[in-house]
Amino acid sequence: MITTEQRQSILDAVDTAFDEQVAFTSRLIAEPSLRGCESAAQEIMYQAMVERGLKADRWTLDPESLATHPGAGAVVVDYSQTPAVVGSYSPRTTGGRSLILNGHVDVVPVGRQELWSRSPWEPAIIDGWLHGRGAGDMKAGLAANLFAFDAVRNAGLLPTASIYIQSVPEEESTGNGTLAALQRGYTADAVLISEPTEGKLVRSHVGVIWFSVRLTGRAAHAFEMAAGSNAVDAAYAVITDLRELESEWNERAKDHEHFSETEHPVNFNVGLIEGGDWASSVPDWCEFTMRVAVLPGTSVEDAWAEINDTVQRSGRENPAVAGMEPTVTKSGFFADGYVLEEGSDAENGLSAAHAQATGKELETLIVPGYIDSRVYGLYTGTPSMVFGPVAEKLHGSDERVSLDSLREVTKTMALFIADWCGVEEA
Ligand SMILES: [Zn+2]
Repeated sequence: MITTEQRQSILDAVDTAFDEQVAFTSRLIAEPSLRGCESAAQEIMYQAMVERGLKADRWTLDPESLATHPGAGAVVVDYSQTPAVVGSYSPRTTGGRSLILNGHVDVVPVGRQELWSRSPWEPAIIDGWLHGRGAGDMKAGLAANLFAFDAVRNAGLLPTASIYIQSVPEEESTGNGTLAALQRGYTADAVLISEPTEGKLVRSHVGVIWFSVRLTGRAAHAFEMAAGSNAVDAAYAVITDLRELESEWNERAKDHEHFSETEHPVNFNVGLIEGGDWASSVPDWCEFTMRVAVLPGTSVEDAWAEINDTVQRSGRENPAVAGMEPTVTKSGFFADGYVLEEGSDAENGLSAAHAQATGKELETLIVPGYIDSRVYGLYTGTPSMVFGPVAEKLHGSDERVSLDSLREVTKTMALFIADWCGVEEA
């Protein structure tokens, strides 16, 4: 147990370094760590770990070893510029429980830049919000992992258990970054991921599958359209059939222990589509990529079988798809959902830290999106908590994170680190 005095010193230390924390977060936002381009932002993280005296480990994700894991996503991009970074803190004396602080460095594309009020890569503070692509999702959290850890030491205390600060890529597409950290041997007694969660603790999140469907038709001149077979029309037909599966899964969600109250928790998103070569030719190919959510309790394998059945049935029975023999391939996430079981010591510790830092009870949240907590949660049975700041417009334009909430979250995290890992006077 930490003393009231120590607790106050930790909270004060967060306040003292908060401007520096925001400046560091801004530096991270200014690096466009889009998929496959994470190296520069990871260099900042790596140096920050070295400066803190952590043992810094940096490696490039290896598609071959990832492929041996059932929870790995399909690798369809080059990983040569996709490093993961972990900073390890080793205690002087051991007593407490070890902890992984995890965050992802990758950000999603900005979309149409003209929808942004300012450059997504030029962070700015406006009315207490820090703006920029990745501000909320999740460079604020990534930096908070470091600064929460700092606060404990700046308060003159040393954690008495190992702490691993993970900065991973690939959270937005496969989950392979955190999976690679697990494969590299990093484990702990609890995991805390500082994704933007409105200052709440995630009770459950869905799994996600990415897949592509390719349809091949027969080209013909548009003036004799009936002589060809139109792969773009066929793609629409397959998408319509998949929408029926989506409705069925949402119907099932109405009885789900955690998702029954969530409005339309299962979303099938057609995120990409391309096809055809010429406006006056019947298109003889079309390919679309879809993201679907899988409720916890349904295995990703079973969900995958249903998706395949639906597409194959379209191929057999839907007249618009006749003769096309649609193929389905995995193209990213192949991840199960996760439920943080109630009543773990880790959750109790975080709740207590939250109450001490904010005076408020820690609420929980159900998330119809993917989070990396499933990695340690499912494959090592480690309680994996997701808790982070209030942010808006994630994956949209004018993304922003609330600095007041970031400060509160950092304080909660710092107190949790001290309580969970234990502390001794430096
Ligand atoms: Zn995220």
